[in-house]
Amino acid sequence: MSGKQYDVIVVGGGNAALSAALSAVEGGASVLVLERAPEHKRGGNSAFTGGGFRMVHHGAADIKKIVPDLSDEDIAKTDFGEYTAENYFDDLGRITQYHIDPELADIIVNNSTDTVHWLMQQGVKFVPNYGRQAFNHNGRFKFFGGVVIYANGGGAGLVEAEIRAAEKRGVEIRYGTRAVSLLRNGAAVGGVRVIVDGIEEDIHATAVVLACGGFEANREWRARYLGPGWEMAKVRGTRYNTGDGIKMALDFGAQSYGQWSGCHSVSWERYANDFGDVDGQHSAGYRHSYPYSIMVNAEGKRFLDEGADFRNYTYAKYGRIVLQQPGSYAWQVFDAQVAHLIRDEYKMRGATKVKADTLEELADKMGDVDYHGFLNTVREYNDSIKKDVDFDPNIKDGKSTVGLAVTKSNWANTIEKGPFEAYSVGCGITFTFGGLKINTEAQVLDIEDQPLSGVFAAGELVGGLYYFNYPGSTGLMAGAVFGRIAGRSAAAYVNTKAAKQAEQAVAG
Ligand SMILES: Cc1cc2nc3c(=O)[nH]c(=O)nc-3n(C[C@H](O)[C@H](O)[C@H](O)COP(=O)(O)OP(=O)(O)OC[C@H]3O[C@@H](n4cnc5c(N)ncnc54)[C@H](O)[C@@H]3O)c2cc1C
Repeated sequence: MSGKQYDVIVVGGGNAALSAALSAVEGGASVLVLERAPEHKRGGNSAFTGGGFRMVHHGAADIKKIVPDLSDEDIAKTDFGEYTAENYFDDLGRITQYHIDPELADIIVNNSTDTVHWLMQQGVKFVPNYGRQAFNHNGRFKFFGGVVIYANGGGAGLVEAEIRAAEKRGVEIRYGTRAVSLLRNGAAVGGVRVIVDGIEEDIHATAVVLACGGFEANREWRARYLGPGWEMAKVRGTRYNTGDGIKMALDFGAQSYGQWSGCHSVSWERYANDFGDVDGQHSAGYRHSYPYSIMVNAEGKRFLDEGADFRNYTYAKYGRIVLQQPGSYAWQVFDAQVAHLIRDEYKMRGATKVKADTLEELADKMGDVDYHGFLNTVREYNDSIKKDVDFDPNIKDGKSTVGLAVTKSNWANTIEKGPFEAYSVGCGITFTFGGLKINTEAQVLDIEDQPLSGVFAAGELVGGLYYFNYPGSTGLMAGAVFGRIAGRSAAAYVNTKAAKQAEQAVAG
């Protein structure tokens, strides 16, 4: 048993947890962070991210406040557009088929910009996401899809900045420490039981913030909750998110919430490692340029609308569709006209790639795609394209197919100019959607929607936010928003409890 009593224990070491820790310290609490990973693998999925944040903004003047170095020249050549609270709210609704908890959605939207400014005060720097969220088209950049900024240094830079800030403010961090259950103190939480090097230890605290991710790295839970076949998916990020925080809270009386059979999953390098490796070349698995490709399955058939919307609004649901194809794989096929738009990760070591001067040769080289099926698909696809509409990757250009069973709604360029390139993809899982129910103060709720005394939650283990799909770059934003709220609420809970005890002592 650890003798020290903390005000707040934060379980997890990613963006949501560190935001909670920083905010709890701001509220005057003593804080211990428990990170299951060893120090060199710290930071959870947050450290794997590109660092994109989806926030409300009204154009260049707002972006300049977040990126003070933005030059007049950059501003002149860039259309940042605007992303209003209404746009954000609409996207969250539309993308989740209107299942998102509206109160939680409201909190994310209305706190997004302010929380980005708060992260800046903690020492996080932001930069515009040229190249990923805007293309140079005829000398001008136009941002699309609601995401303009990302943390300098990506997710790794974000987590480093947050850890630096936390350490500076006296937050204690214990690595290699796995939380396994919540301790009781009467009707309230009393701390956390952990396992370190195989040995159990109880650590006492007045409040606990659970921010230790979903269950995407737990093969058994994946098969159990997402369905058969999901144990085969590749985990894009950390291996440590196995649902522990969810289980701890459920055992303590929490209510399960959200879409337990849903997850964020993408088309991902087919032969990627089973888990991501934060200190390895983990971004090599990205295959996000598919809107400029056609995707074919083993039968050589197209099976989804590659250009249904901007990448941010489709990628998180396409992993599941790849998993459902025969053999759970597909190929993304590009021709020379769009080769310049293919993201850098496709060029990294480890890509399952074939290249050929003719489509026939490409079909041969892919090896596990029906030869005639593929050539027929390409022929029909090329014949179905609206030739009079210009291709423009910065907007939903409406250059679509007509009359196919599976439409391509935008960016439907012909596949006719060699050399051709094809990349094989499988399903990569990012995070799971099911989890705990919280209220707008990030208190974890029981089955009667009453707060569990002293238990708060933030990040991927919160249920009720995403269903079926996910608008890109909401995860970090929601994690920071609710992490900040959870830390503040936990500190307030500790202060109230301390005040009550002092009152009782005086009265006694
Ligand atoms: C490759 C990739 C790219 C992504 N890109 C983006 C992006 O650009 N923008 C965006 O918004 N989102 C992105 N996401 C999603 C994003 O990572 C998540 O939404 C977000 O990071 C979740 O933060 P979190 O703090 O809840 O979880 P995590 O960052 O995963 O942190 C969970 C932490 O809990 C720890 N932990 C787990 N179990 C225990 C335990 N029992 N005891 C103690 N600690 C435990 C883990 O080690 C980890 O440190 C991406 C995800 C991946 C995998």
